[in-house]
Amino acid sequence: MDPIHLLHSLNKRNAMYQNTLNYISKKVSHIFHQYEIIDNHIHIGKGEGVWFYPDVDAARVMDVLENIGISKAIVFPNYHKKYLDANEEIFHIQQSFKNLVGFGRLNTGRASWIPWKSILSPPRQFLSAGLTNFLIRKNKIDTQAEIVKCINRYKLKGFKISPGVDGQLSKDEIALINEFDVPILIHDSPQNIYNRILRFFPKTKIILPHMGGYPANSDDYLKAIKMAGEYENLYLDTSATMFQYILHKGITEIPDKLIFGSDLPAWHPAAGVTLLMTLDIPETHLRRVFSENIKKLVDFS
Ligand SMILES: [Zn+2]
Repeated sequence: MDPIHLLHSLNKRNAMYQNTLNYISKKVSHIFHQYEIIDNHIHIGKGEGVWFYPDVDAARVMDVLENIGISKAIVFPNYHKKYLDANEEIFHIQQSFKNLVGFGRLNTGRASWIPWKSILSPPRQFLSAGLTNFLIRKNKIDTQAEIVKCINRYKLKGFKISPGVDGQLSKDEIALINEFDVPILIHDSPQNIYNRILRFFPKTKIILPHMGGYPANSDDYLKAIKMAGEYENLYLDTSATMFQYILHKGITEIPDKLIFGSDLPAWHPAAGVTLLMTLDIPETHLRRVFSENIKKLVDFS
């Protein structure tokens, strides 16, 4: 059960939990409210065919955010086979909730490039990117048309791609997204981001979630921090990054390139905010990570 469902079902059933939650929210919210906080990483909507992240309701998300003083957030669809309905759902959410900004999600159906090395040394890369994509359905949607529709008709402000389940973007698709000058939040390793995008399009606006090291890959964290220092439009989001030394290193070395994200409903945003607030870093850095950096990429007005 995801945190949103968990919170709500517990709230109904358990008065003691409700009191504790209110108490904690009150305790922390005045501290959190000192900052403008924008959450750049929230999965929302109905979802399709997966056990994780079931129906995540926008009103519930707003409850969670308002409780702890997060003013705005970027939301994108949970897993869908094609995302056509899901992108429309995000459009309606964005229309109804002025503090939620939508990113579209795409299924390119294009099999991942499988590095031979990863076949020889399974399981992480091979299983997650290679095998899933090996079995991926054929591309039945007009991805280019969907990109145009997301921006022109739905007024979405960027894209989210998980190549492991959604397939790879082609060069044409990347070039088209670049023409619209919007960021792509793309869950991949820093090496793949370089090989598949930055090598050809070094100025593409990319947000690499989980600081590039999900799950807990220290080489990738370090590589991502270094790359974000080198590529002008490469940013890292802090979602699901639990290591304080990695967060500290990132904020100290690339304070203009780190963006706060929670990964709600997998992670409660209060957990991510707390991890950042307990670091020994200048307050100006914290303000950049909480809101100033993402505003350089996305227009929230
Ligand atoms: Zn996520």
